[in-house]
Amino acid sequence: MNNQPVRVRFAPSPTGPLHAGGVRTALYNYLFARQQGGQMLLRIEDTDQNRYVPGAEAYILEALEWLGIQIDEGPQQGGPHAPYRQSERKEMYREYAERLVQEGKAYYAFDTTEQLDEMRKRMEAAKVAAVQYNAITRLEMTNSLTLSPEETKARLESGEAYVIRMKIMPKEEVRFNDLIRGWVVVHSSQIDDKVLLKSDGMPTYHLANIVDDHLMGITHVIRGEEWLPSAPLHVLLYRYLGWESTMPQFAHLPLLLKPDGNGKLSKRDADLGGFPIFPLEWTDPVTGDKARGFREEGYLPGATANFLALLGWNAGTEQEIFSMDELISSFSFERVHKAGARFDIQKANWFNQQYLKQLDDSVIVEELKPLFKNSGIDINQSQIAQIVHLLKDRVHFTKEIVSESLFLFHAPEVYDQDVVIKKWNEEAVNAISGFKDALVAFEGDFVAHDIKELLSATMDSLGIKMGKIMQALRLAVTGAGAGPDLMIIMEILGKEEVVKRLESAVNRLSAQIRLA
Ligand code: GLU
Repeated sequence: MNNQPVRVRFAPSPTGPLHAGGVRTALYNYLFARQQGGQMLLRIEDTDQNRYVPGAEAYILEALEWLGIQIDEGPQQGGPHAPYRQSERKEMYREYAERLVQEGKAYYAFDTTEQLDEMRKRMEAAKVAAVQYNAITRLEMTNSLTLSPEETKARLESGEAYVIRMKIMPKEEVRFNDLIRGWVVVHSSQIDDKVLLKSDGMPTYHLANIVDDHLMGITHVIRGEEWLPSAPLHVLLYRYLGWESTMPQFAHLPLLLKPDGNGKLSKRDADLGGFPIFPLEWTDPVTGDKARGFREEGYLPGATANFLALLGWNAGTEQEIFSMDELISSFSFERVHKAGARFDIQKANWFNQQYLKQLDDSVIVEELKPLFKNSGIDINQSQIAQIVHLLKDRVHFTKEIVSESLFLFHAPEVYDQDVVIKKWNEEAVNAISGFKDALVAFEGDFVAHDIKELLSATMDSLGIKMGKIMQALRLAVTGAGAGPDLMIIMEILGKEEVVKRLESAVNRLSAQIRLA
């Protein structure tokens, strides 16, 4: 490694929403850049105009911002290497492709689609396993290696369509030391003469990527495993362009796998499983197809980043909850796994729960106001605060607080039959009736602590052990056998409502006992 300041880039293609794997790539780049006191670049790789999707770039920016991934240089921020959108750098790439042609390391190829198809068929008929445009087949094709210089010149001047292909020399060994995978060694005969410049004058991904990484002074290329097969070609391009001494280090990140660990995670898995794999909701501008987003599903940005950071990396300790600063200081390539990482949404839910617990109640209260309103529940700020206090530790998502609190607004219509059978008996009815009478007579502050004292005193006087009737009491108040702190529930409900619910339970359930 050289001692240049670290410069990394996240280089997405705006072909749709950024998927969890892409977000994780951006995150690891960011963590490493910040840890090393380096720079994080965002480069939009939009040279494939057929795959360009409007809105995708804006989506990427919004997703990174939501997650707290800060960009130092990019289309929005500008920087010394602007523009940071490849389509705006188009002219720059041709120069390098032409230079390679001049130096005999690339060539013009005029083959039509039909000619290429014909070559493929011929090779297949000859039982060639992997058909490639390479050191052997190029000799039979229409290119500046087989045509005379005059003919080539004439074709170029007449405006005939052509591409520039890299002339891969046979018998070269290509090796590089991946920061995650160790030494990767490939023989150049396995690499085909890749197109560098397309017939529309646009560079291919390979050329644009290498030229830009070089010009932008990138020191580390951190990207998904799907690019590992292209890396040897990239190493060769650095070599041919004479840039090998400043070639960046590579780190190819493990794939994200389906929840069951079998195969690559896809949008279909997300649709089937009903969980998000995209940071933000996305509506396809052509098909109108919607994809769920972590943000819209109610995941907190910190929890989402924490979850994604641990897909393929761990600190080597028991620690799982990491703030962004902690991630920055703990991250290391040594602890990034080679094997794919299983995408387990339950884990994401767990992280969200942990982050929700740490969130200030007042923040949750603000978020809940519109949610209660939309559910048609008329409730004031301090009541919401009480409910947050009651339920915060029991839910994974803020929105669940609304659904979990509905029992506070509606007296039970049904009672959990298992609990009725096990706990609703003579003694319970006596206890509950006694407590109800005590409540009616009670004149103090109706707060959890005092309610508990009253209950305990009442049970003492009746000679009933509190533990024996607590579940029946909860059943009478909420209809269920388990739930959050019953004393706080009663405080929130208020004396009148509790008395009503107790009376109603005694009437309805005792009728049931008689029937039985
Ligand atoms: N544009 C490529 C992508 O969409 C970038 C790959 C790389 O980082 O080299 O993933």
